[in-house]
Amino acid sequence: MTELSTHLEKLDGYLARFRENGISNLINGEDCPALSGETFTSISPIDESVVCTVARSSAADVDAAAEAAKAAFPAWRDLPALERKKILIGIAEGIEARAEEIALCECHDTGQAFRFMSKAALRGAENFRYFADQVTSARDGKNLQSPTLMNVTTRVPIGPVGVITPWNTPFMLSTWKIAPALAAGCTVVHKPAEFSPVTARILAEIAHEAGLPPGVWNLVNGFGEDAGKRLTEHPAIKAIAFVGESRTGSLITKQGADTLKRMHLELGGKNPVVVFEDADLERALDAVIFMIYSINGERCTSSSRLLIQDSIKEEFEARLIERVNRIQVGHPLDPQTEVGPMIAKEHFDKVTSYFGIAEEDGATIAAGGAREGDKGFFVKPTLFTNASNKMRIAQEEIFGPVLTSIPFSTEEEALEMANDTQYGLSGYVWTNDLTRALRFTNHLEAGMIWVNSENVRHLPTPFGGVKSSGIGRDGGDWSFEFYMEQKHIGFARGQHRIPRLGA
Ligand code: NAD
Repeated sequence: MTELSTHLEKLDGYLARFRENGISNLINGEDCPALSGETFTSISPIDESVVCTVARSSAADVDAAAEAAKAAFPAWRDLPALERKKILIGIAEGIEARAEEIALCECHDTGQAFRFMSKAALRGAENFRYFADQVTSARDGKNLQSPTLMNVTTRVPIGPVGVITPWNTPFMLSTWKIAPALAAGCTVVHKPAEFSPVTARILAEIAHEAGLPPGVWNLVNGFGEDAGKRLTEHPAIKAIAFVGESRTGSLITKQGADTLKRMHLELGGKNPVVVFEDADLERALDAVIFMIYSINGERCTSSSRLLIQDSIKEEFEARLIERVNRIQVGHPLDPQTEVGPMIAKEHFDKVTSYFGIAEEDGATIAAGGAREGDKGFFVKPTLFTNASNKMRIAQEEIFGPVLTSIPFSTEEEALEMANDTQYGLSGYVWTNDLTRALRFTNHLEAGMIWVNSENVRHLPTPFGGVKSSGIGRDGGDWSFEFYMEQKHIGFARGQHRIPRLGA
């Protein structure tokens, strides 16, 4: 038996209950179909078969979930920190115990290769453990003495919050948002992406099995334009943590305006990786390839624009082409696979449309540029060369295994091109010249920059983007700043003079 067939057999076992009963909502600890009875179908990106039906929620379902989150909030907020901590650790343990199930379901649902996703569940568990450790200090504040007052600050949870997640690495992203919300003392309504509902459901089940009280975490499935929209508008929901496309971020900001929602937006990117001639080119090559072709290129921090110094361009691109052509495209549950199928037909059509756009704009398709196979949403890993930074393939987020290579001659030119995009999520710089690295990173417009490294996430560091890539930061204490309100209390230290009016 191959590893793939073992994985498929196990997956069948894990999916059987969803295939039979569909995926319902989880509101106030209760399993419930959409109130309208409506469902939609989840389609496999591997062979386009129907996986299961999913509750298609409308405003009424979101209202029920938001009311449940509102009712559960005071008790969850006031639960002693150590008890909240115990539950978060219980969730981490539950995730670890079901790591294989989560990984297999996530790969099947999203098309992500198992070799990258096998650790996704454990990273999710790590998020819960990390924020569990912060629970006891999350509300700590400052003591700011003034001549008349003892000024004390504290942080209080903002209230019920909405979490809206995309379909790329949905499990990890959900934990990343929900773990700090719960640690802060907020209650949650989660609306996962319609394309990838399975692991969000498993995660919510694990949380309840770990003893999370009903109503603290509510799961509402459905589409963005109805369920997602209502969540951003509901008056009981005090903040929205959103991960998705930039234009959706702009839409939900408008939707949330009437109720003055606090928004944290993690949006798209067209991230540059800049390779200078003095870099360690072996390591740079590995990192360039990894950061665009892993996770199917469906990664917000992917380095989708290669800015390569012209003196090394020819050799670097030749080696790149050789490696890109050897990337293994295949079934996501096969451990040998490096790139799996695109999430859905709509996304596959978007990614493949750029092959024509590249040619129209005068770029060269140096590798890939075609669909792989005739079933499922597989795309050949693609490299565009002879491109300029003005082309659409250099400006628009393609969100697939597609890299655009653009030459530069000077540091100034590289910087100008790196910054010449609407986005500013991440950037990668390869050079062995320390002062250049300092200069360059100082002026690079990005929320996160790695020098001589691929993206290596460290949970206490701030995560987020500038320009159209987002507003706000996650990670460490930044997550608590979003989910909590600062509160100031001034205590008079004596009988200071109070101005007397009308005396
Ligand atoms: P999307 O914006 O289409 O959808 C994201 C979520 O928003 C889904 O759950 C969707 O149902 C919901 N939604 C859509 N319209 C809505 C509306 N009007 N009101 C409320 N909710 C609505 O994004 P996607 O295609 O699922 O995900 C890919 C995008 O996410 C890419 O642009 C990627 O760069 C971005 N992303 C960013 C980060 C980051 O940290 N910056 C991380 C991962 C993904």
